[in-house]
Amino acid sequence: MSKYVQVIMNFAKTEEIDRLFTYSIPIHLVSKVEIGQRVRVPFGQGNRTQVAFVIHFLDELPQENYRIKPILELFDEVPLLNVEQVNLARFLVNYYGCTFAMALELILPPGMAKTPYRPLPQTETYICRNISHDALEQHIAKESAKKSFDKQRAILTLFLIEEAIPLSELKRSQEVSGSSLNTLIKKEILRKEERLVTFKPSPIHYQAFKTLNDEQRAARDKIYEAIENPYYQGLLLEGITGSGKTEVFLSAICKVLEEGGSAIVLIPEIALTRQTLMRFRERFGNVVALTHSRMGPGERQRLYQEAKEGNIRVMIGPRSAVFMPMERLRLIVIDEEHEATYKSETTPKYHATDVARRRMMESGGSLILASATPSLESYEQMKSGALALVPLTKRIGGATLPDIQIVDMRRELQNGNMQIISSALHEAIDRTLQAGNQVMLLMNRRGHSTFVNCRNCGYAVKCKHCDIAMTYHRQSGYLECHYCGHKEVIPTTCPSCGSAHIRFFGSGTEKVEEYLEAYFAAFGIGRMDFDTTSGKEGHSKMLAAFQNHEFNVLVGTQMIAKGHDFPDVTLVGIIAADQALYMQDFRSEERTYQLITQTLGRAGRGEKKGEVIIQTYSPDNMVLEKIKYHQQQDFYEEQLKMRKLLGYPPYSHLFSLVVSGKNETEVIQKVHTLKYYYEYYNKKGLFRIVGPAAATISKIADEYRWQLLLMGEEREKVLIYGKYCLNKFINRENTGTIKINWDIDPRSMF
Ligand code: ADP
Ligand code: ZN
Ligand code: ZN
Repeated sequence: MSKYVQVIMNFAKTEEIDRLFTYSIPIHLVSKVEIGQRVRVPFGQGNRTQVAFVIHFLDELPQENYRIKPILELFDEVPLLNVEQVNLARFLVNYYGCTFAMALELILPPGMAKTPYRPLPQTETYICRNISHDALEQHIAKESAKKSFDKQRAILTLFLIEEAIPLSELKRSQEVSGSSLNTLIKKEILRKEERLVTFKPSPIHYQAFKTLNDEQRAARDKIYEAIENPYYQGLLLEGITGSGKTEVFLSAICKVLEEGGSAIVLIPEIALTRQTLMRFRERFGNVVALTHSRMGPGERQRLYQEAKEGNIRVMIGPRSAVFMPMERLRLIVIDEEHEATYKSETTPKYHATDVARRRMMESGGSLILASATPSLESYEQMKSGALALVPLTKRIGGATLPDIQIVDMRRELQNGNMQIISSALHEAIDRTLQAGNQVMLLMNRRGHSTFVNCRNCGYAVKCKHCDIAMTYHRQSGYLECHYCGHKEVIPTTCPSCGSAHIRFFGSGTEKVEEYLEAYFAAFGIGRMDFDTTSGKEGHSKMLAAFQNHEFNVLVGTQMIAKGHDFPDVTLVGIIAADQALYMQDFRSEERTYQLITQTLGRAGRGEKKGEVIIQTYSPDNMVLEKIKYHQQQDFYEEQLKMRKLLGYPPYSHLFSLVVSGKNETEVIQKVHTLKYYYEYYNKKGLFRIVGPAAATISKIADEYRWQLLLMGEEREKVLIYGKYCLNKFINRENTGTIKINWDIDPRSMF
């Protein structure tokens, strides 16, 4: 038995106390303390009692002359964290350079830190019938004449149907009066009893599974092999849209459950969580649970506990579900793995795929990354052998990929069409709707007009607080800033020259909607973007209405790219394919490719042939060409070549720094000083330092933003170097009023 433990303070918010502290274990606690449990310890000079996590056991003290204080008592009845989670916290500390306390905060559901952790209650109080059924009937008949018996009768009739009812259930019922219940217990007609509650997992519902086609079966067999293997294996399930990927990983999960394991399925936040849940429940019943960010802390804590105790065996959720303390976790599936939502935007800025891989490596499980358009990172790993490729190349039911037509919008202008919808797309919409089919249109910007400016002097209305054009919103009637939320009334004259020639340019979803209403209102128009999906189920409701043909044209932002099948959607239009193509981000081509490919995958998924029209001002762009001819592999290969040439990820690791503050001069001066530190410690030239430069959006909410970028080949070195120089800078320089935000492996360059 170990005599000492090393702990992390529960409250360790600052880096100074975010380290292991050693305590001795008093004799009476020796056999009781476990890893992941919390204990009370005396801390600091005043010996104030603090709660701390047990991280590590020690047999001997590292330094003899050190005065060691004993643990005072246990805080949790059973460990709050299992050993795997403690190791996961260590990983997060090392991999993301965060504090231990931050890592623990990430792993635990909100609010869990305050209360002691107890096992789920094993028994429940039941109220039982204490006399025979017949005797009870007679009793009711005898007493019924009395008026005072009404309340008692309401209770007793329940016990004619059931012999025992949980007390909690009776308490919830409005007809049950507490005092009458007590009277009946006193009269010994009913009695209280503590009963053992055992969770009964639903059996797997095999009839609900689809019969897989040959290709799916081959994919499934490959995954089965990985699951049977006791070592870690990563798989890339790369299947074109509508090829039945979900069915394949559903059968993989089935196998995991049959073998007594559990699984986590990550989905992008925006996806149709309800539909996904139903699809899983149909097959696996009550062992499936869904977690999401809109859930209250109580519900999240209960899920945590049910998962930890092995009642929940399939957890579905957004990126934070990757931390769930599943019992015998054997499989993690990341659906639509290329989605940006898998990277956290708050410190520690973890990527769910990294965490998932780590967990599966630790437990010898399998990781499935599923997508029709993998991230370049995953594609590269597949090429290097770190991920095994599991391909699906055919659509279910023999559905074919849609025909793609590219429309040159420059020509459209030459022909005198100033509208945002080309004549080809207009005709196709008309034809599709007349035939009783449905249309989806992608416009990846919300609002009506994306900039407003003066025809006379060129003045553009920018946000007062940000370096970004204001967007006109028809719905609200205001100009809105998409970065800080600032609103303004529309100027009637130019604030700069007084001219009345204020004009609106650029387009968003509202403008497309306006166009559609002018021509196709009779068919019903729906718009899906951030502004129309705010409610709890806003997103699902809209899609359900679309599926029921309550409207037949759906225009929306990237939200429409995902979701369940709409067999009647035969036309998909991409209104402005160039939108994201020329952004200052080396991933903009990859992103555009993924978004367009995913969206056009919505067309013709049923028995009807699909059709796609892509509108662009640069029809010769390589990205669109590869999309048109379905040359995915070519596209990825070319992107990789380019990344390699430029030394970008996945061939390097980035450490990005954003220096921000209200005083522009100070920000610029400090970011340059910061750069000196990086140069000074880069004598061997292992790292590339890019910048400093004003960030793409150089001011947000009155704060100026400058960026510095470090690149290197080895991740660990990049992280150490990035943090080391930053700490030197912070310790030696007067940082004034600036803030510094850093990120390792950023997925976005803003
Ligand atoms: P993906 O995830 O690749 O987009 P899904 O797994 O959602 O594809 O499948 C697309 C549609 O095809 C779903 O409606 C699904 O129920 C159906 N499907 C998938 N596999 C089969 C199969 N083997 N037999 C019949 N229908 C299937
Ligand atoms: Zn003007
Ligand atoms: Zn703003």
